[in-house]
Amino acid sequence: MKPAPFRYVAPRTRAEALDALRRYGSDAKLLAGGQSLVPLLAMRLARPGIVIDLNRIGDLAYVRPARGGVAIGAMTRQRAAEDDPLIASRYPLMVAALRWVGHPQIRTRGTIGGSLAHADPAAELPAVAAVLGARFVLANARRERIVDAADFFTGYLTTALGPDEMLTEIRLPPPPERTGWAFTEVARRHGDFALVGAAVLLVGDGEGRCAEARLAFAGVGYGPVRVPEAERALAGERVTEALAAEVRRIVSRSVEPEGDIHATADYRRHVAGVLAARALIEAASRLEVRT
Ligand SMILES: Cc1cc2nc3c(=O)[nH]c(=O)nc-3n(C[C@H](O)[C@H](O)[C@H](O)COP(=O)(O)OP(=O)(O)OC[C@H]3O[C@@H](n4cnc5c(N)ncnc54)[C@H](O)[C@@H]3O)c2cc1C
Repeated sequence: MKPAPFRYVAPRTRAEALDALRRYGSDAKLLAGGQSLVPLLAMRLARPGIVIDLNRIGDLAYVRPARGGVAIGAMTRQRAAEDDPLIASRYPLMVAALRWVGHPQIRTRGTIGGSLAHADPAAELPAVAAVLGARFVLANARRERIVDAADFFTGYLTTALGPDEMLTEIRLPPPPERTGWAFTEVARRHGDFALVGAAVLLVGDGEGRCAEARLAFAGVGYGPVRVPEAERALAGERVTEALAAEVRRIVSRSVEPEGDIHATADYRRHVAGVLAARALIEAASRLEVRT
């Protein structure tokens, strides 16, 4: 199919893009990497009156140190983030998760901001943002506001972004000392969207126990799903096979996925538990012990 007719503008600055959003609001769609928007246009599931192409705005793509953490410009390509030494050294979990996103060709165009703003329930990056405690900078023509990852995903393919707002930056707080991390997922084929994905970040106490555990799942809710009961069960504990099995049971009974043509709800519940246990064991193997 071909898209319905739309107008097209390609601003050169962020201010011009925000001004176009102010004027056209809900009749406009921002174009980032186009890896989700262009198929939606072609299938006429999205029919904006105007497309605002962000690709000519140079200063929306960067990775730089900020307040002990890292700031990532929304137009940073997923592949650039995957190859970035700062991200690799401070947030290896993000690199591990990015390798599950589509294929290299898709990540070469797809952007970090586009994936988060699109908010596909099966996407990897929202789960990563949840466990890393990311904060999102949302701008309109008049002001900026900052929204925590926990408040950003508000419904199916829906976020806290208003019709006149653009996601401009993703801020990752300083990584805690001594973390163990893992991302794993089950998809029908590598490169497909996850049926279920699991992101785990363990903060070590230096003695091989978890001072804190953060678990988030993709594919079992409209956005990333945390399981506080499992996180509590891990706090202060050493991860053993028995504890991982206990977490598997907690996760499987806590998540409330919906079934669809790809997988039943029961299957997703089961897989979430299995992936939680696998990711936990892998994350725990990376926890550094004080020498
Ligand atoms: C074959 C295939 C396989 C894929 N597999 C996966 C996968 O396994 N996991 C996964 O997560 N994704 C997958 N994707 C999607 C891909 O990661 C997209 O890159 C991502 O969903 C959207 O990013 P984008 O930069 O292409 O955004 P676009 O497609 O350009 O935009 C997507 C949406 O976000 C909005 N938007 C974009 N940028 C902003 C911004 N800065 N502020 C506000 N709104 C904005 C757009 O208006 C649009 O509504 C796949 C895509 C394909 C084609």
